[in-house]
Amino acid sequence: MQSLQLVSRENHPEDTIVTVRGVAIGGDGFVAMAGPCAVESRDQLFESAEAVHKAGARVLRGDAFKPRTSPYSFQGLKEEGLQILAEAREEFDMPFIAEVLDPRDVELVASYADILRIGTRNMSNYSLLQEVGKTGKAVQLKRGFTATVEEWLAAAEYIATEGNPNILLVERGIRTFETSTRNTLDIAAVPVVRQASHLPVIVDPSHSGGRRELVAPLSRAAAAIGANGILVDVHPHPEDAKVDGAQALLPDEFAEMMGDIGRILEALGRA
Ligand code: PEP
Ligand code: MN
Repeated sequence: MQSLQLVSRENHPEDTIVTVRGVAIGGDGFVAMAGPCAVESRDQLFESAEAVHKAGARVLRGDAFKPRTSPYSFQGLKEEGLQILAEAREEFDMPFIAEVLDPRDVELVASYADILRIGTRNMSNYSLLQEVGKTGKAVQLKRGFTATVEEWLAAAEYIATEGNPNILLVERGIRTFETSTRNTLDIAAVPVVRQASHLPVIVDPSHSGGRRELVAPLSRAAAAIGANGILVDVHPHPEDAKVDGAQALLPDEFAEMMGDIGRILEALGRA
């Protein structure tokens, strides 16, 4: 792939390990990143954070800026949400990831978050990729829902060319003719990308499957196939969630799934 230089494994055979506040992501390790899709209130975020922390998640997720299909849907708590996330980081000693939607918000989100997420809709927003690249902060780059693996890696190259090697790739499903899942999880993309690139690869079983009962089986598949981690929606009261309640795991379900993943990793001799 000629468009790939900095992110290509050919030019950099060793795995990149992205370390965020002492949490190392990449190599043989497996890191669970979990929390609600969106921060809705302090209580909701703290309840989620406490549960995922107790179950073994090392990174907290929770968005303050939400990309919604309808302009009338909940758009996020913005800076107030980032402040709540920063409080939870101190309380539970977990770094957090939050999405940044717009180049004008990069400075604000980067002043709070440990990992900046580029969502599927923005994977090919090249000016946004350059802005997050310039911050030097870790960036989670989701695969565009219509992007090929080559296009996704070329998007990562945009971040890397700004001098930022701290990139985590997230397979979150692609749009296909199949309607039984929200998106089709391209599980084969995990070994394909791990071969083509030295960057860590994370699987999002929530936005791909789109249904609670699919999250655990897809997460087990991610662990078995060699992903470097998962990004999972967990909500203490999914029936009241403002965003994506149907795909959120309950805290107990998340804890049970983490036990299964631990056994899979152990069987494979992984940390
Ligand atoms: C999310 O992780 O909350 C999200 C919006 O995901 P995606 O960009 O993959 O749809
Ligand atoms: Mn979501």
